[in-house]
Amino acid sequence: MTTLTNEEKILKNFINGEWIEVSNREHVYNPANGNVLVEVPNSNPEAIDQAVEAARVAQKEWALVPAPGRAEILYKVGAIMKERKERLSQLLTLENGKVIEEARGEVQEGIDMAFYMAGEGRRLFGQTTPTELKDKFAMSQRCPVGIVGIITPWNFPIAIATWKSFPAIVAGNAVIWKPSSETPIMAYELAKIFEEAGLPKGVINIVYGSGTTIGQAMIEHEDIRVISFTGSNETGRKVATECGRQLKKVSLEMGGKNAVIVMEDADIDLAVEGILWSAFGTSGQRCTACSRVIVHKDVRKTLEERLLSAMENLTIGDGLDPKSKVGPIINQAGLDKILKYIEIGKEEGANLAAGGKQLTVENYENGFYFAPTLFTDVTIDMRIAQEEIFGPVVSLIEVNDLEEAIAANNKVKYGLSSSIYTQDVNRVFKAQRDLDTGIVYVNAGTTGAEIHLPFGGTKGTGNGHRDSGVQALDVFTEWKAVYVDYSGKLQRAQIDTDA
Ligand code: NDP
Repeated sequence: MTTLTNEEKILKNFINGEWIEVSNREHVYNPANGNVLVEVPNSNPEAIDQAVEAARVAQKEWALVPAPGRAEILYKVGAIMKERKERLSQLLTLENGKVIEEARGEVQEGIDMAFYMAGEGRRLFGQTTPTELKDKFAMSQRCPVGIVGIITPWNFPIAIATWKSFPAIVAGNAVIWKPSSETPIMAYELAKIFEEAGLPKGVINIVYGSGTTIGQAMIEHEDIRVISFTGSNETGRKVATECGRQLKKVSLEMGGKNAVIVMEDADIDLAVEGILWSAFGTSGQRCTACSRVIVHKDVRKTLEERLLSAMENLTIGDGLDPKSKVGPIINQAGLDKILKYIEIGKEEGANLAAGGKQLTVENYENGFYFAPTLFTDVTIDMRIAQEEIFGPVVSLIEVNDLEEAIAANNKVKYGLSSSIYTQDVNRVFKAQRDLDTGIVYVNAGTTGAEIHLPFGGTKGTGNGHRDSGVQALDVFTEWKAVYVDYSGKLQRAQIDTDA
């Protein structure tokens, strides 16, 4: 069992390669039992000025290191993460609550990202292209943007940070990272790994503090030229507004209201497994969590019965206990929000078929547990079917055919992930074309993204950018077009052409 030393329990900012203690600190709690885990700096905005200064100096040198050399650091980071996978996973469960198997999966995602983005050090492809004129050469290349700010949420405290920082670093940027106040330990561990891997000082800087102080200082700082943000829709809008005012590049990954569609020809047991995994994994606190099941009327009763029976077998408890299938909710505010939606669902006329209440787990009385919940008789316009609840709550919606199912899926303001269970290849292709989400699964739940594909969503989920995949590089690079005229004379584009 991983423990923290007394020194490790007082987290410090990491600026210009130095660990800087801050006297004003907040407690961070283990959501499984309510115990204090660590103290985290509540920095003031001057820390951002210091980090920007360090990043400015470091980035100039870092951008001149050949990209394969930059990538060597990421290979080392990946190797250390792999070696330390169990420690990182246990600490992740301690601070976030998710069950240990899922924590291991999340850490693995970070390791995969390290090796994948290190590979980009030998690609970072641009294009060479013909030109209109004789004795002239043209190409486009990716260039670093400069200083990048990343702001991350608590629900995937290491994976999302790697999706953002690794492509930024391999592309030659310097990074300032503000982690979520709820989950600061992963940032601390990752900073130590970067340090051990030999990343030059100032290339990554971690500043802890509240979103409204440190996050705000980052988005307002004119020298941070890109903000990559993952979090709620509400905060994302604030971030986008300030970035828009400054014409600053901003990538937003926000909420979801994801659905699993189950058609009458589906393998129902497989669908139940997929729904359980994607609805109750991470206690439903995933941006890709399944929170709606859209089911064909002919199999509604069967699916409902089997789902309710499977939900009864879910063990809820401390994520470090291997028997637990569902861990705690992140904090009291998270619980309160879920409870509020249970009341809303009841008032709207939905039938509370299971769960709907806070749970007390023996020996973990101060933890934040919630029973896996199913609402039936839900209609698509109800608030519980429209708004992100961010907990283990599923709404069952009955439909008559595929067209109605797709329309129901699309009739929300979000567009992150969707899924369809069917054996019919024609339906598969229609659905993958017409579901208006950034990610579509066939015969699998709404979660399970792999790091080499683009991750992100449409409509209220994002603003057109993607985390992960080669597409992530677009956030952290500027395109430069270069023309080389070797004719020795003035040649005018569009005018001195032979055509
Ligand atoms: P929040 O929006 O509350 O916070 C996200 C981050 O923004 C935190 O680091 C927070 O800091 C910071 N922040 C808060 N206010 C400001 C501000 N005014 N300016 C700048 N930064 C600010 O989201 P949660 O942490 O609660 O995460 C849950 C949300 O994230 C859900 O909506 C979920 O769907 C979404 N999400 C989306 C994903 C995607 O890829 N689409 C993936 C994972 C989550 P602090 O912690 O100090 O408040």
